[in-house]
Amino acid sequence: MLGVLVAVALVAICTGLVYPLKHLTAVTSLGVVYLLGVVIVSAFWGFWLGVATSFLSAAAFNFFHLPPVGRFTIADSRNWVALAAFFVAALATSTVSDRARVRAAEAERRRAEADLTVEIAQLLLARAGVGEALALIGRRLALVFDLPWATIALGESDADPRRLAIPLSAGERRLGTLVVPAGAPGRLLSQLRERVVPALAAMLGMALDRERLVSEAVQTEGLRRSEAVKTAVLRAVSHDLRSPVTAMIAAGSAVRTPDLTQSERDELGRLVVDEGARLARLIDDLLDLSKLEAHTAAPRLTECSVEEVIDAALASQPQDAAFDVRIAPDIQAVHADFTQVERALANLMENATRYSNGEPVIIRARPVGDRAVIRVIDRGPGIAPADQDRIFEPFYRGDSSAADPHPGSGLGLAIAKGFVEAGGGRIWVESSLGSGSTFVVELPAVPLAG
Ligand code: ADP
Repeated sequence: MLGVLVAVALVAICTGLVYPLKHLTAVTSLGVVYLLGVVIVSAFWGFWLGVATSFLSAAAFNFFHLPPVGRFTIADSRNWVALAAFFVAALATSTVSDRARVRAAEAERRRAEADLTVEIAQLLLARAGVGEALALIGRRLALVFDLPWATIALGESDADPRRLAIPLSAGERRLGTLVVPAGAPGRLLSQLRERVVPALAAMLGMALDRERLVSEAVQTEGLRRSEAVKTAVLRAVSHDLRSPVTAMIAAGSAVRTPDLTQSERDELGRLVVDEGARLARLIDDLLDLSKLEAHTAAPRLTECSVEEVIDAALASQPQDAAFDVRIAPDIQAVHADFTQVERALANLMENATRYSNGEPVIIRARPVGDRAVIRVIDRGPGIAPADQDRIFEPFYRGDSSAADPHPGSGLGLAIAKGFVEAGGGRIWVESSLGSGSTFVVELPAVPLAG
């Protein structure tokens, strides 16, 4: 419609242009002015509108300019020749500029296709999920090929009267299906099949291979890790479980010695109880760790008061441990598994007490954005930078533990980290040698109503 309006407007303009020019040269040679309109129309709207513009131009030229003016008849037979010459020139012009238009459109489409191929490669090979990349590629394909929609499915997908299924295969292997609307123009579809489908199929094949390799690597890594954990557990079982048992057997045998005083008997009894408690702790730790490793320690998230969970962790600390606790009054409740967070905090408090040389351990809690941040701070020896990541690994014991009179098993922090992260929180340490350590636990706060 716009093309027709432009054609009529251009013919009118050219007709107007001929008037002043008539005084300068013979009117029969001025048909050439109309070619301007014909060139423009056929370059933008194609051959047939160009031909129509040629007809309209010939009619206007004849009516307005060739004598007798104001009629469609022609007085002088030489003017017939001028009109015919104009018409032939207009048709030729129309053909040439239409070809140029088609070629430019084709070049544009090829460029868009080349861009699309690069984009397909980027989407498929740089992204993690093939499924997500295919959805985006479908949308881009539809845009470049002027289709109402296009989707790509993995594996086979059936065609129906409204959908056309183009297979994407690499050799014998069927990878997926490109599905497009059945009514799409045949020319576009054959371009799609010839120019885009082979590249798309090849890259899809590569992306699927890569995805398979990555998932195999993840599985192997998982197996390797669980093997490493099993070995570490065996090591702990053989050493850490053995030493309290040995102590208990020794104390149990000594109790039977006849000439023991009452206080010696008490001392041995206390030793058996202490070592038994240590053993029980270790067994609990091992069970927690194996649950975390097997992903069966699923948290039961509830709304927990930060104050209550800190109090519960404090309650499990020895009587003689000193704490300086300050909790910001505006702190919100957190989304967490109460028992797991309590356990994590208790482990941090226990470590801090152990390393703080009798100085009180500082506990601070305050809101930061949409999270609650709890800090357990001690003035102990600090932790070497190289140890700071590794201390959260199961069974890893840092340099600082050399000064520890009651060596642990290296499980406390691994369990704390497992529990905090299982509930959507984060845990880390801020420390430097000689200036104490701060263990930070960050938990998602429950949004305030309204
Ligand atoms: P364990 O205390 O049984 O060794 P943990 O997993 O609780 O095991 O801690 C791992 C290591 O982290 C410890 O061996 C110790 O080197 C270091 N560590 C933990 N807490 C502190 C602390 N508050 N100050 C200094 N070092 C610490």
